[in-house]
Amino acid sequence: MPFVKVENCEGRGICVSECPVEAISMEGQHAVIDRKKCIKCGACLSVCPCEAIRPDSENSQSRGHESSRHRSIE
Ligand code: SF4
Ligand code: SF4
Repeated sequence: MPFVKVENCEGRGICVSECPVEAISMEGQHAVIDRKKCIKCGACLSVCPCEAIRPDSENSQSRGHESSRHRSIE
């Protein structure tokens, strides 16, 4: 599942309307992805102008030292 790299997110919400299952919502100044709703279609990855939405594979690589900075709804 993609995740939102909070420090890159500019908070304009472009990704929110792109998600076919409404898994993305805004929380304060950044987007969050609802893991329970996400169907991993990848649509949000291509629309984000800030490369704030990253593929899950990248999250796995950084897990352990940076994961607390990546936001998603559990
Ligand atoms: S499109 Fe990217 S920068 Fe814009 S709200 Fe979504 S994650 Fe943040
Ligand atoms: S991968 Fe698809 S379903 Fe998951 S948050 Fe992005 S647009 Fe929504």
